[in-house]
Amino acid sequence: MNFSFALNATDGAARTGVISTPRGEIRTPAFMPVGTAATVKAMRPESVRATGADILLGNTYHLMLRPSAERIDRLGGLHKFMNWDRPILTDSGGFQVMSLASLRKLTEKGVTFKSHIDGSKHEITPERSMEIQKLLGSDIVMTFDECPALPADRTRIAESMRLSMRWAQRSRDAFGDRPGHALFGIQQGGLERDLREESAEALRVVGFDGYAVGGLAVGEGQEAMFGCLDYAPAQLPEDKPRYLMGVGKPDDIVGAVKRGIDMMDCVLPSRSGRTGQAWTRRGQVNLRNARHADDPRPLDETCTCPACANYSRAYLHHVVRSQEMIAGMLLTWHNLHYYQELMGGMRDAIAAQDFADFETRFHAMRAEGDIDRL
Ligand SMILES: [Zn+2]
Repeated sequence: MNFSFALNATDGAARTGVISTPRGEIRTPAFMPVGTAATVKAMRPESVRATGADILLGNTYHLMLRPSAERIDRLGGLHKFMNWDRPILTDSGGFQVMSLASLRKLTEKGVTFKSHIDGSKHEITPERSMEIQKLLGSDIVMTFDECPALPADRTRIAESMRLSMRWAQRSRDAFGDRPGHALFGIQQGGLERDLREESAEALRVVGFDGYAVGGLAVGEGQEAMFGCLDYAPAQLPEDKPRYLMGVGKPDDIVGAVKRGIDMMDCVLPSRSGRTGQAWTRRGQVNLRNARHADDPRPLDETCTCPACANYSRAYLHHVVRSQEMIAGMLLTWHNLHYYQELMGGMRDAIAAQDFADFETRFHAMRAEGDIDRL
């Protein structure tokens, strides 16, 4: 069975469909929880699946350093290693080399750097990134790219984009022909519309199974990001999945889907779950806040996740303040559940040609804010 994408309905620029892979279907728009080090922190894989996730993201940079791609391969690949048998997308390692590693050196060939864990020296090239992602057994492989933090000047953005396009061709050549596995190209070009078009054209010429809008959510702010998403997705082939990397907050996600994005990933729901932050229909709730200490009500009375079905705000407040492990477990579960409910709601709304109303209701509920204190 091969990798394929079927678009089922559109509503304005918003789209809903299904990506088919040998490891299962991915309903789009899809949110991918991040399993950085072969685990979505504080969650068992079956619990991640229970929240409604069809696919996980793994980080090449982290896995190549520890426990190493070769070791994971010897142990049967990433799916077996982490006990997740559904699709996995891996990033190329480039973004995290730039954000985490030290002594980075960028050349035409690739990038050398020192590990943030033990200071050991490593190199990633497009060819090595393809090799690592193959060893991991990733279902959706990302091309190796380079992206400057924004704001950056136009010359730097253009040079970086053109390097990434040469690396995209090398990634395609090194990936080869692997039925059932997909390779996604990554559009760059910052907030420059013509550079984005040049990048999209370069990727179209090479040909990929899906396309990512890269280089956003790197400090430009939501308004600038939406400004770019008003044109960038439409520059990419309509019949392939479009993936916005590293986004985001619930309102970022709704705005991205509205503009034609099919896939997203972000550490936010899991990371904020470990710091006592919950995302709900009514916005963000800080469980550390003393207002919850005597509150017997659930976090969200309409939510069916274990945290909301079985525990009070008072209990969640207590375990957050006591730094008990169950705090991160319950709030991560709730946050991932909320994100997947949000995606499901958008898929249904697009299929029903009701996305504008969905968006209005989404913002109206958030504007109400959290329930009144007791
Ligand atoms: Zn919940």
